[in-house]
Amino acid sequence: MNIKKFVLSDFQSNCYIVGCEETKEAVIIDPGQCTEEMVSVIEEENYVLKNIIFTHGHGDHIAGAKELKEKFGADILAHEAEVEMIKDPKINMSAMMSCDNVSLDVDKSLRDGDVIEFGDKKIEVIHTPGHSKGGICLKINEHLFSGDTLFPRSIGRTDFVGGDYDEIISSIKGKLMTLSGKTKVHPGHGNVSSIGKEKLMNPFVK
Ligand SMILES: [Zn+2]
Ligand SMILES: [Zn+2]
Repeated sequence: MNIKKFVLSDFQSNCYIVGCEETKEAVIIDPGQCTEEMVSVIEEENYVLKNIIFTHGHGDHIAGAKELKEKFGADILAHEAEVEMIKDPKINMSAMMSCDNVSLDVDKSLRDGDVIEFGDKKIEVIHTPGHSKGGICLKINEHLFSGDTLFPRSIGRTDFVGGDYDEIISSIKGKLMTLSGKTKVHPGHGNVSSIGKEKLMNPFVK
């Protein structure tokens, strides 16, 4: 499995292209922009882009999806509780951001426990509300894409629409800290970490 990370826009949001080496199928997680670099990675690796997956519906994680979908024809996937936000530029905050207003349709809505397949890989959908109602983390073997739920030594904000502090804490403690300590954490902002490190050092989850 090949993971490529891109740090995008003024918001420094992380986007990941995850490719299956054997089949050349790939997914893109949280395209907050569509950059030339991202397009050339997809083209140079000869990837067939299957899905564009949002960990949640904030503008800094979704604003590049329209262009990518037009170029590569992939389906947009997000949790069912995030569909309205992705459609509404006010709620997804793109109306306040330095990008075009974003209003997108979700092609397939997701629920906790769903499995998304690409190539010979399986992505487990873990519903982790708290930063937003339909926030999800995506787990592929021992790699967790944690969106704006869990950051290195920190957690996502809970003061936006649908945010809830108690909920994010119980999502993280109940569904993420129970994963193997070896699980790598690829957050929506910041550097890579692991569940083991966060268990020891994250002040919000001790
Ligand atoms: Zn967010
Ligand atoms: Zn974000």
